[in-house]
Amino acid sequence: MNQPLAGRVAWITGSARGIGKAIARHLALQGADLALTDVLEDDLYATAKELALESNRKVIHQVLDVTDPVGAAGFVQRTVDELGGLTILVNNAGITRDALMMRMSLNDWERVLHVNLTGSFVCTQAAIKPMMKARYGKIVNIASVVGVMGNAGQANYSASKAGMIALTKSVAKELAGRGVRANAVAPGFIETDMTHQLSPEVKEAYLQAIPLKYLGSSDDIAQVCAFLASAASDYISGQVLIVDGGLHM
Ligand code: NAP
Repeated sequence: MNQPLAGRVAWITGSARGIGKAIARHLALQGADLALTDVLEDDLYATAKELALESNRKVIHQVLDVTDPVGAAGFVQRTVDELGGLTILVNNAGITRDALMMRMSLNDWERVLHVNLTGSFVCTQAAIKPMMKARYGKIVNIASVVGVMGNAGQANYSASKAGMIALTKSVAKELAGRGVRANAVAPGFIETDMTHQLSPEVKEAYLQAIPLKYLGSSDDIAQVCAFLASAASDYISGQVLIVDGGLHM
């Protein structure tokens, strides 16, 4: 197989399962060594083992909450020590706490902003040190199409993802001079554990609104991430790539 990411080291947050795991798999199959983190210990261990066997790449893993700045800095140091550097960061960890505005608790508002947006800030701040030193880096932020469109019942989540898009553009402007590129991927409706919680009626309503008339897969997102992590996209920075079957045009 073509190995456009040979010699690269990629840190993917929230990579024990779902979209993060698919991203890790695609990056490894394209030649990258992996640094995997998540809060789900058992799933993370199983994923690290599975991907190391499948790809024959080096894989390290550590339980890490993305909102922990000391833990993030320590993990970046470990990655550099054990894998020889850090070229790619995928800020993928994310949560939802959906509720209509009238019923959304301040706690659910703050928790979603903290994990999705502050977590991306924390991991980015830790990861850019070796990238700036190497004068090359690729940051891919997993936002959401609702960060562009808004969504009833997801004020907290949509605001966090819109914040991630603004973070992406700011980092792209601030670090371009050091060779660091930052882009966002904005998935639409992707079949994972996160969306399995939704009712059949809500899923059907989404399906009707998607011009391509099918839900996306984790692989649909992972392939776009692999492109944005590779040298093929080196002249792209500060962009938001919407991957949603045409939902938002
Ligand atoms: P998922 O299956 O819930 O996976 C997310 C992973 O991140 C889980 O293992 C989760 O652990 C972990 N995580 C949660 N909080 C964390 C924290 N504080 N620190 C570290 N890891 C944490 O979700 P997914 O569907 O794959 O989504 C991945 C990303 O894509 C998210 O950013 C999501 O917002 C975005 N996205 C998804 C869709 C979709 O349709 N699925 C659409 C648009 C955007 P827990 O299970 O313990 O929370």
